[in-house]
Amino acid sequence: MRFEDLRLSEPLLRAVRTAGYNHPTPIQTSAIPHVLAGRDVLGCAQTGTGKTAAFVLPMLQRLSEPGHAPRSPGRVRALVLCPTRELAQQISESVTTYGRNSHVRQAVVFGGVRQGPQARALQAGVDVLVATPGRLLDLMSQGLANLSGVDILVLDEADRMLDMGFLPDIRRILHQIPKKRQTLMFSATMPEPIRKLADDILNQPVPVQVARISSPAPTVDHKVHFVRSPEKPALLIRLLAHTRHTRALVFTRTKRGADRLTKSLMQAGVRAAALHGNKSQGARTRALAEFRSAKTPVLVATDIAARGLDIDDISHVFNYDLTPDAETYVHRIGRTGRAGARGAAVSFCTDDDRANLRAIERLLQAPLERVGQPAGRVESAPHPRRPETARPAARPSGRPGQPGPAGHFGRPGRGRPGGGRPGSQWAGGRAHKGERGGRREG
Ligand code: AMP
Repeated sequence: MRFEDLRLSEPLLRAVRTAGYNHPTPIQTSAIPHVLAGRDVLGCAQTGTGKTAAFVLPMLQRLSEPGHAPRSPGRVRALVLCPTRELAQQISESVTTYGRNSHVRQAVVFGGVRQGPQARALQAGVDVLVATPGRLLDLMSQGLANLSGVDILVLDEADRMLDMGFLPDIRRILHQIPKKRQTLMFSATMPEPIRKLADDILNQPVPVQVARISSPAPTVDHKVHFVRSPEKPALLIRLLAHTRHTRALVFTRTKRGADRLTKSLMQAGVRAAALHGNKSQGARTRALAEFRSAKTPVLVATDIAARGLDIDDISHVFNYDLTPDAETYVHRIGRTGRAGARGAAVSFCTDDDRANLRAIERLLQAPLERVGQPAGRVESAPHPRRPETARPAARPSGRPGQPGPAGHFGRPGRGRPGGGRPGSQWAGGRAHKGERGGRREG
C-alpha cells in the first residue's frame, strides 16, 4: 500500500513525502479511507503506531473539501481533544507538519501558560484546535471559545482522559458541539466506560484496530529486578552506569519521588531531569526539549509521561516504582521500542509489588525475565538503532549537584513526525536529510 492509494490530496502527499514516510502504517491504511468517506471511527491503537497521521491527514483533506464551511472569525472547524499538554503540543506539531502545504490555521490550548495568545488565536478563527479539556472549558466559560461550528471532533487517548477524570469535562464540551458532525475516537484500551462513551457519541462507527488491546510492542525486552525499596536508587544508578542507553525514561509513582530520585541521580553524576504535574509549564517544556536533544538523557517522570510522548530513541524505560495498574505498564513501556526499534523495559519489584507484577504478567500473558541483583553486571543493550553513536554511560562522577559526564550518547532528537525511522517496520529512508518535520523544540 502506498499513500497515493489512499486518495490523499497532492498537498498532503507532498507533506508526507517531506516527512520522510514511504508507506502508510497499518492504522493509517485502515482508518484513512473511512475518515475520508465521512464515517465515524473508533480506533483502538497504541501510540507509536502512526495514529496521529491516521486522523490528521484525512481531517485536513475533509476540511478543504467543498461542503465544509470555510474558516471564519471566531469559528473552530475541527477540534482535537487530548489528555496532556505534551500530547497537545505534539499533535499540534503534527498538524503543522502534515498541513504544511494546506494553508491550515491551527491553535493549541492547554493550561499552565497565559491564555491571551490562545484567546486571540481563537478569535481569528481556526481550522484545527488542539486542546486539553480543562483550559478549553475555561476559555468557553469566559466566552472566548465558540464550538458551535465544529464539523469534526477527535478524542485522542480517550482511555487516558477517562483515567485523568476528564469524562465530565468532555461531556460538557460535547454539549456545545453540533450533533451533526464527524467524530473520531482513539483509545489504546477499551474499558467499559470508554465503550459506553463511544456508544453515546459515535454514529455507527467503523471499528479500526491494529494491535491486540493492551499488547506491548514485540520489540521490547522485559526484565524485572527484585530489590528492597531503600536499595532502588543505587540499583538504578548502577544499571544506568553499566547499560548502553541512548535515552532512559524512569517512572516513579509520585511527584515527590520523582524529585527525590532526580536529585540522587544528579548527585551521582547522572544527567537527569524530572517531569511531573507540579512543574511549571516552562520547566516541563525545557525538561522535554533537553531529553529530546539528549542533553539530559535521563528523564524521571510520573505517569504524566506514560502516554503520548513520542521521542525517538528511548532505549530504556525503567519502572522504578512498579505501577499498580497493569495497563499503565503497557503505556509506560510503549515509550520505547517505537516504530519497530528495539527497546528495554526494566522493572524494579519490591515485596509489596509482587501482586502488581503478577497482574502485569497476566496482562502480557508472559513472565518478565528475572534478573536478580546485578551487582556490577552489565545489562545487554537493546540493540540501539545507531550503535555507532551509542557509548556506555560514564560512571558516576560523584560530584554532588553537578551533572556528570554520564550521558550525551544519543544522536540529537529528530522530532516527531518526519523521522523516517531507520529500522522501522514501515520506514524506507527519509526524503530530506536534516528535515526536522516541523517540530518546534521547547
Ligand atoms: P504516533 O503513533 O502518531 O505517535 O506516531 C509515532 C511516530 O511514527 C511519529 O514519530 C511519526 O512521525 C511516525 N510515523 C507516522 N506515520 C509514519 C509512516 N507512515 N512512516 C514512518 N513513520 C511514521
